[in-house]
Amino acid sequence: MANIPNILLIYTGGTIGMVKDYHTNALKAFNFNQIKEKIPELNLLDCRIKTKFFDKPIDSSNMSLKYWVKIVDIIENNYDKFDGFVILSGTDTMSYTASAISFMLENLNKPVIFTGSQLPIGDLRTDAKENLITAIQIAGTQVNNKPKIVEVCLYFEYKLYRANRTTKISSSQFNAFHSHNFPPLGESGVHLAFNESLLHKADPNKNLIVRKRIEDNIVILKLFPGITKQVVQSILNITGLRGVILETYGSGNAPTDKWFIDLLKVSIKNKVPIVNVTQCINGSVLLGYYETSSILKEIGIISGKDITTESAIAKMKYLLGEGILFKDFKAIFEKPLRGEMSY
Ligand code: ASP
Repeated sequence: MANIPNILLIYTGGTIGMVKDYHTNALKAFNFNQIKEKIPELNLLDCRIKTKFFDKPIDSSNMSLKYWVKIVDIIENNYDKFDGFVILSGTDTMSYTASAISFMLENLNKPVIFTGSQLPIGDLRTDAKENLITAIQIAGTQVNNKPKIVEVCLYFEYKLYRANRTTKISSSQFNAFHSHNFPPLGESGVHLAFNESLLHKADPNKNLIVRKRIEDNIVILKLFPGITKQVVQSILNITGLRGVILETYGSGNAPTDKWFIDLLKVSIKNKVPIVNVTQCINGSVLLGYYETSSILKEIGIISGKDITTESAIAKMKYLLGEGILFKDFKAIFEKPLRGEMSY
């Protein structure tokens, strides 16, 4: 007999949970306890929905480590009671949050689907209803009473993505997210179609491991033509700095000025890992392909390959939090752990 999936809907904040007060025109938080009254379509879905929400819902610009831990705590405490989880978040930092949660939950064998919306749920032209209803439907999709999706995903505007491959690309269009280096895992059209060969497969012999030790003291150093020694030096000299995401040009290229390379060398000598990610929205770092990246390879810069900056931040915070030693860091970072980069 088919199992009726139990879905936990977790509202953290963001536009999706807002309604317009038509007297004042202001956006105000929506009471998620009344979700089925506000969206009666949810009653038509073949699943049981329970809701939890942050006491004080946040704009996702205020997202931080403590909220990542709060989200994984809710999932961990309810893991055995539910078949799937839908996380509603503001869109602005959703790719960062969802990437981080993908690293914090190891051996996941249930779906965790992030979604949000560009217009509030109470708006006439809202995209919230479709995003929410389909995200719940995906979280409840089962094959032989087992969840079809067993990873952290982001569903938005008819596409299901591997969360740690996404980037927010638009502040105005409904099509607000994209996965530039990896195809969508599914698409919602007349039917809900999954890209079967790309989906993670559950390993029933492995139990969920929740990783909550996260290192916050890292930095993104974005290169631009004419960047000065003083700027690079002050960034790399941040007290207690534990890691650097270096946003380079093209396939991982950077200036070859001696002062620049010398500063990077000092950080590496001080056991601060530096990961090279490209500023291009599509494509991969190929260290050594041009002369302007050969030197980076020689001095021990780590290749982020085709990882997004959002995911690189999350992966670095996670690996440093786990206490990975500097000597092992490069080899571990350069391997895909949750499908966040290509081999
Ligand atoms: N500023 C909002 C947030 O990220 C935007 C949104 O929800 O889409 O929380």
